[in-house]
Amino acid sequence: MRDITALDDISSPLSGGSSTRMRNLFELKPNRTASFDYLIVGAGFAGSVIAERLAAGLNKRVLVVDRRPHIGGNAYDFYDDAGVLIHRYGPHIFHTNSQRIVDYLSRFTQWRPYEHRVLAMVDSQILPIPINRTTLNKLYDLHLASDTEAAAFLASKAEPVGDIKTSEDVVISQIGRELYEKFFRGYTRKQWGLDPSQLDKMVTSRVPTRINTDDRYFTDTFQKMPKHGYTRMFEAMLNHPNIQIMLNTDYREIRSEVAYHHLIYCGPVDEFFDYRFGELPYRCLKFEHRTLDQEQFQRVAVVNYPNEEIPYTRISEYKHLTGQVHAKTSITYEFPSDDGDPYYPVPRPENYELYKRYQKLADTVSNVTFLGRLGTYKYYNMDQVVGQALALYKRIEAKAGAEVMAGDTTEQRSNTAQ
Ligand code: FAD
Ligand code: UDP
Repeated sequence: MRDITALDDISSPLSGGSSTRMRNLFELKPNRTASFDYLIVGAGFAGSVIAERLAAGLNKRVLVVDRRPHIGGNAYDFYDDAGVLIHRYGPHIFHTNSQRIVDYLSRFTQWRPYEHRVLAMVDSQILPIPINRTTLNKLYDLHLASDTEAAAFLASKAEPVGDIKTSEDVVISQIGRELYEKFFRGYTRKQWGLDPSQLDKMVTSRVPTRINTDDRYFTDTFQKMPKHGYTRMFEAMLNHPNIQIMLNTDYREIRSEVAYHHLIYCGPVDEFFDYRFGELPYRCLKFEHRTLDQEQFQRVAVVNYPNEEIPYTRISEYKHLTGQVHAKTSITYEFPSDDGDPYYPVPRPENYELYKRYQKLADTVSNVTFLGRLGTYKYYNMDQVVGQALALYKRIEAKAGAEVMAGDTTEQRSNTAQ
């Protein structure tokens, strides 16, 4: 078993130094006698939120393990060699309609206002995506002047689809085959290794078409970035005397060595059960990070490349997200792939069916709860994972409250009997 003692384990200047802020994260030297109320697998949003709530809300002793060398899961950010703050696992933009989730996270971070805008390279033009009136005017050299005109134009392109089930159906029924092929088909085939006709409609529905000129990627009420980055936010969340953390540690290495009452598992659910019913498909990505000796590379944080001949799906430039001022800039190319770390559950009927079998099995294991994007095989955004973890906490809290009440009643009864 590994002891986490060195601050250097997190390769971010944010985490460097011997600040007391980081104290609890690295003091852990668990041994066979260590005992915890909860063992939490995964230090991403799911694991960190539930760890914080259990520690701070219910005074539980919690051990969080992660096989990666850092906290934050896929949202982990760090300063690269050039000193540019980048996201190791691709661009993460916080957006939500939930005031409750914003309020909760605001306990651990201040925010930087940021509205995400994305461009797509289509037919050698750089155009706004989601498709909006400006996209249509530029692409077709039109002068659609109102929402009504744009709606009529799209209606003339749209093709009727009887039963809208797939990611192809949903787009074609709204904007027709031509726009579908330019903006969605190639991107989706690269991203998922599947044709949109093989994917649930929820995948491409994430990018709706607009008839107005709103060129923001998201329309949520709250759109912002943690002011000092995600890792800083996670550090604040996990900085509690009841929380201990082991990094570089797979759950399987320590499961028989640490005593705990309940396990919360935020890793892949099929892996937990040794792939008993077969592997749940996850889509992987390879990230190629580059630093350039120029202040800016592209006009917006993300440019998409739907053309199937180009092997990557998008290029992200972080300074747009973080507001960092730096003479250099760092960018990331995303290359989808079949192998590597699991990043995306693949939404399609046969995978839901397979997941249901695992879920049924999971329901029979009474001292384990599955949580998060990998643990519940859900294509969730960060805010949804936070919401899921807070909901789990509410259930645990209510149960703890009920047990206390039951204990009180029993005590009262025995007092009365005396
Ligand atoms: P994760 O962040 O995956 O954390 C799970 C952790 O468990 C990992 O750190 C892993 O190492 C650890 N683990 C797994 N198995 C084990 C084991 N056996 N032992 C020890 N540790 C283990 N969401 C948004 O809201 N906005 C965005 O802009 C956005 N962009 C994204 C871009 C990309 C490229 C990707 C892949 C996702 C994006 N997301 C975005 C989604 C977001 O990353 C997830 O919603 C969120 O990170 C899920 O948190 P989680 O804790 O469930 O899982
Ligand atoms: N998509 C597309 N073209 C684009 C952007 C998105 O075809 O320019 C499709 C693609 O299938 C993608 C899905 O819409 O996987 C959802 O896009 P989103 O940006 O939400 O993906 P994520 O940020 O989760 O990778």
